[in-house]
Amino acid sequence: MTGKTLTTSAGAPVADDNNSISAGPRGPLTYDNVQLFEKLAHFNRERIPERVVHARGTGAYGTFSLDQSLSDYTRASFLQTAGQQTEVFVRFSTVGGGQDSSDYARDPRGFAVKFYTEQGNFDLVGNNTPVFFLNDPMKFPDFVHSQKKNPQTNLPDPARMYEFWANHPQSLHQMTILMSDRGIPRSWRHMHGFGSHTLGFWNRAGERFWVKWHMKTNQGIECVPADEAASLPPHGAQQDLVEAIERGDHPSWTVQLQILTEDAARQFPINPFDLTKVWPHALAPLQNIGTLTLNRNVDNYFAETEQAAFAPSNLVPGICASPDKMLQARLIAYQDAQRYRVGVNHNQLPVNAPRCPVHHHQRDGAMAVGGTNQDAGINFYPNNGVREAKPQADLAPPPLPLLEEAWVQPYSQDDEDYFEQAGQLYRVMSEQQQSELAATIAGGLAQAESAVQKRMLEYIGRADVGYAARVHAALEATA
Ligand code: NDP
Repeated sequence: MTGKTLTTSAGAPVADDNNSISAGPRGPLTYDNVQLFEKLAHFNRERIPERVVHARGTGAYGTFSLDQSLSDYTRASFLQTAGQQTEVFVRFSTVGGGQDSSDYARDPRGFAVKFYTEQGNFDLVGNNTPVFFLNDPMKFPDFVHSQKKNPQTNLPDPARMYEFWANHPQSLHQMTILMSDRGIPRSWRHMHGFGSHTLGFWNRAGERFWVKWHMKTNQGIECVPADEAASLPPHGAQQDLVEAIERGDHPSWTVQLQILTEDAARQFPINPFDLTKVWPHALAPLQNIGTLTLNRNVDNYFAETEQAAFAPSNLVPGICASPDKMLQARLIAYQDAQRYRVGVNHNQLPVNAPRCPVHHHQRDGAMAVGGTNQDAGINFYPNNGVREAKPQADLAPPPLPLLEEAWVQPYSQDDEDYFEQAGQLYRVMSEQQQSELAATIAGGLAQAESAVQKRMLEYIGRADVGYAARVHAALEATA
C-alpha cells in the first residue's frame, strides 16, 4: 500500500475518522470512542492565551548581512566581519487589536527581530516608530486599557484614548506619529522598523557605547488613507508579505545605527534614555551597517509565528540593556508573558531555539521537548565536573556607573520637555500631511469631553502654534 495512514497522536492507525461508534443507529455513543474523544479534547485546547498586545501578527524568516565590522564597538559575534550572515525570524504585528482585528488599524506596528547568533539569540523587539507614548512602565497597563475597547460596550472608544493622552503630555510625540499618514502602513513591507530603546554595545576593551537601531524600508514608505483602510480586507498585510516572499520578491530593510560614546551621552542635550524622544539625526548621524532581508515563509503559522517568543532580555555578549526605564520593565515583563502564554520551556520550540549549543541547569517543567531534557548532564553549579559547562567571567558587560547622588525613590519625569520633538515632527511634514494629521486628530478628539479637547489643544500648541490652529479649525469643522 502507498500513502500515509491516518493515526492518533499516539501513532496508532485510525480505522474510521468519519463516524462515531454508536449503540445502534439511534442510540447514544459509547465510551470506546477513542478517536472522537481525542479529536474533541485536542480541539478544546487549540488556543493559547492571545498576546494582550501585539496579538495579530505575521512572521517570516530571513537573513541579516553585515556590511562592515563593528568590532570597535561591540564583541557581539554576529557583528564582527563584513559579509557575515545571520539567520533571523521577524514578526510584524499591530498592537492594540485582538487576533480578530484588521491589519489596517491606525495603530503602531510591532517589528520584532530574532537574530539567531552563534552566541545565542538577540531579540530586537521594536516598533515601526522611533519613540513610544510613555517613559515610565508604571503607566503601561493604564495606557493599553485606555486604547483598547470600551470595557462595557466592547467598542473602540476614541474618547478614552484622548482622555489618557490629555493626562500624559509625554504621549504627544508618538500620538503625532500615530495620527499622521504613517499611522496606517500600506503593508509590513512598506514601513520602517526601530529598536526604539537605547541599547548598549560593549567591545573587547570593555568600552561601552549607547546605540539606537533603525531599519529603513527599501520598498519605500507607503501608507493607507483612513477611508481606504476601512475597505481593505483585514488580512491584506499578511497576504501581501506571504505572496511577495512566495514570488521571490524578498523585502529588505537597510539597517542603520546611531552610536554615542558614554561621554557624548552624558553631554547630550536630551535624556538619551527617554523613550518618548528620538536622537536628532544632526546630533547622532545614522550609519549603514547592513541589510535585513526576508526570504522564507513559515511552514506552520501557529508553530512558528504564534509561538514565537520575543524578549528584550534575549541579549548576547557585546550587547546590553540601557537604563531606559521602559526597557528595564520589558526585560522582566516579556519573559514573564512568554512563560504564561507559551510555557516555561518556550525556548525549546524550534522557532525560539538558539542555533548554538545550550547548557544550563534548568530542568523539567511542562513540555520539556528539546532533546532529552539535557540527558544525564549535571543539574547544579558549582560542581566538580571538569567538562561541565561553566560561566565565562570575561563576558560580563562593563560595570555601569550611577550618579553619585542617586536616591532610591519614585522618580518623576514630569519636567521633561515633551513638546519640542512633537513640534519638530509636525514641521517635517508637508502641508497636506499636516492637514490630514489635524483632521485625523479632530475626528477622534471631537468625541472627547470639552476639558480633554482643551488640554490636548494646549499641549499641541506648546509643540507648534500652527499645529494647534489646524486641529482647532478641524475640530470646529466637525461640530
Ligand atoms: P530629520 O529632520 O533629520 O528627519 C526627519 C525624520 O522624520 C526622517 O527620519 C523622516 O523619515 C521622518 N518622518 C517624516 N515624516 C514622518 C511621519 N509622518 N512620521 C514619522 N516620521 C516621519 O529628523 P530629526 O532627527 O531632526 O528629528 C525631527 C523629527 O523627525 C523628530 O522629532 C521625530 O519626530 C522625527 N523622526 C526622527 C527620527 C530620528 O531617529 N531622529 C526617526 C524618525 C522620525 P523618512 O526619512 O523615512 O521620511
